[in-house]
This record gives sequence, C-alpha cells and structure tokens, in this order.
Amino acid sequence: MNYVFDTATSPSVAIHGSDDRFAVRRIFCVGRNYAAHAREMGHDPDREVPFYFTKPNDAVVDSGASIPYPSKTNNFHFEAELVVAIGKKCEDVKIEDALQHVYGYAVGNDLTRRDLQSAAKSKGRPWDVGKAFDHSAPCAEIHPINQVLDIENSRIWLTVNGDIKQDSNINKLIWSVSEVITNLSTLFTLMPGDLIYTGTPEGVGPIVKGDVIRVGIDGLTELETKIV
Ligand code: MN
Repeated sequence: MNYVFDTATSPSVAIHGSDDRFAVRRIFCVGRNYAAHAREMGHDPDREVPFYFTKPNDAVVDSGASIPYPSKTNNFHFEAELVVAIGKKCEDVKIEDALQHVYGYAVGNDLTRRDLQSAAKSKGRPWDVGKAFDHSAPCAEIHPINQVLDIENSRIWLTVNGDIKQDSNINKLIWSVSEVITNLSTLFTLMPGDLIYTGTPEGVGPIVKGDVIRVGIDGLTELETKIV
C-alpha cells in the first residue's frame, strides 16, 4: 500500500528515569472535576455523571517547550491537571480493578481558549476550537505508578511567572482516578497510550506572550511551559 501523504506521526511523552517514551494514542479530558472550579465557572457542583472532551494526540507538548500564543483568542487560560497514563486495555472495568490499568501519572496543563469555549458552551456547540487546538496539551514526564506514593492526597499547584495561581489537592477531585477510569471505560475501550486529563482545581486564569507557567504535583516532575 502506498499513500499519497505520509501522515504517520508518533506523539509521545517522556518517562521519568528512562530513555523510553510513552506513545500517545488518545487524549481524554474530564470536565468540572473540582467543586470550587465548577463554581467559579458558574455551575453547581453536584455529583452529576462526569463528562468528557478530547484533544488530538499530537496536541501533547513536552515540559520545557515554548509554545506560540494561539490564534483567534483574547482569553488564553491555564488549567493545572493530574494526567493518568493508561497502560492496559480496559472496558467496563470494576472500580477495584481500575488502577491495575494505569501505567503512571504526570503533571499536565489543559490549555484553553476560554473565549471560544464560552461561546461554544452558550450556543450548545462542541468545545473543540476552545480545547483541541495545536500545542494545547503540555505534559511532563510520566512516573510509573509503582514509583508514585499516595497520588490521591498530593498537592497540585500552578504558578505564572512565579506567582501562585492554583493551589489545591488531588483529594478534592469530585470523581477519583479510579472512578474516572471506571466511568470512561463504559464509554470507550481504553487502550495503552491513552492519556486522561482529570480536571482542574479553582484559580484558572489568563496567560499572555512571555509568561512562564510551572505546574506541580507532589512526587511528580514539574511541567514548565513558556508562551511566545
Ligand atoms: Mn481541564
């Protein structure tokens, strides 16, 4: 078989302590998974069933990268998030078995064109232009799960040019990592290479050209991104 174009790309994320890379298959993102963030976006954080959106796999960007301020927005936002890397196929997984399918964890930033997302929301349109644009999924090194202690009680924070903007804890997730995997696996057959951005705590806000964003979660490698 010959193709007229070679579209083969291999988006990937670094792995802590290894020269190997984690090939990225799909990127799922959870909407509104911290109560205080749901409130700041004008929603009532009841335990409604989690909902999802996706980004293309080639939206991933390594830590340390400079990324261009995106087109068509005047309100470009950061969102600090825990990223779960799936390492085994799973479908309709039981909650007690969910973590067996996790390869590891990383720090991510769900970059968002908030003005485009808000316009889409108000019209009941898809979020893609607000969420799934180029370079929209910075992700630091993945730490294999057996090297991570108590991720579910770890501080998550974000700074812009050294000023703290988000400061919360993974234990404030409305839907835990196991619950997200269990629910998502009823909708999609999760496969090795899938990433799940688990949602952001309160404090999201705008960034501009020249800003340096650092995102951290206790026990994981920090994520640094510069906007140029
Ligand atoms: Mn998000």
